[in-house]
Amino acid sequence: DDHERKEVWANIKDALFNEYIDQFRAEFLEMHPYDQARIFEDLDADVRMQIYTYLSPEEVADVMEHIDYEEIEPFFSEMDPRFAAQVFAEMSADDAVDIFNELDKDKVASFLTIMDDEAADEIKDLLHYEEKTAGSIMTTEFVVVRAGMTIKEAMVHLRTEAPDAETIYYTYVIDEDKRLVGVISLRDLIISEEDWLISDVMNERVVSVSVGEDQEEVARMVRDYDFLALPVVDFQDHLLGIITVDDIMDVMEEEASDDYSKLAAISDVDSPDDNAFA
Ligand code: ATP
Ligand code: MG
Repeated sequence: DDHERKEVWANIKDALFNEYIDQFRAEFLEMHPYDQARIFEDLDADVRMQIYTYLSPEEVADVMEHIDYEEIEPFFSEMDPRFAAQVFAEMSADDAVDIFNELDKDKVASFLTIMDDEAADEIKDLLHYEEKTAGSIMTTEFVVVRAGMTIKEAMVHLRTEAPDAETIYYTYVIDEDKRLVGVISLRDLIISEEDWLISDVMNERVVSVSVGEDQEEVARMVRDYDFLALPVVDFQDHLLGIITVDDIMDVMEEEASDDYSKLAAISDVDSPDDNAFA
């Protein structure tokens, strides 16, 4: 409640003022990253710069994912470039790309050179896709298994992949050419016997979107099919990425405000003297 929030806020300010790192971390990391982001927005740049030295790149990445990307440029400018690059490396590649699209090209290039190769390559791949397509909003952190694996083998594999996966709710099945041939939900995995084969349990009629598909169409499909994620494929059915429902909600919001702006523009043109809202 409000009283509790004020108390937390007071504790955080106190910790920052006195440079009590442990107290700050304890209070701050207790909060959801969404709320952490609201605090970041309220603070002055110099206080945030102090905070960056108290948090890991991963912890800051969680906060940044909840800042409005159109307002995010100053946050990365005030960070030490090396630290900023590490923050990007810790983010989901699709979120990093969304933010890169808001920054100027030279800055993006310099972050990519400082970043470790694996993270940089993942982001570079995504940067090639045209804006507002499935490719531009997908993430490449998905889990795959082979149809010939047992449920037990698949579960062991899922466990090792889980820390970095965008979702563990669906595991996709690919063949030797990396073509998408099936999907299996976590629930399906858990309720199956360990020695069954993936091919016995997987759903072979996979709904997917092609990488060049318009994001608005992808949003519609996620809504219509009620899946928590959709796989993205190229024209030969190679699995390239996944789009999760949380990314789709951002798209819906963006498209709704685009449509609203268009409507507003049209009504301006049609009735320049209409001051009904003034
Ligand atoms: P819940 O009870 O939470 O709904 P669930 O296992 O039914 O659990 P759903 O998300 O409803 O999970 O998925 C329903 C089924 O659809 C699962 O068997 C899953 O393997 C399958 N599925 C997931 N993604 C796809 C997809 N892209 N195309 C086709 N089937 C899919
Ligand atoms: Mg279901």
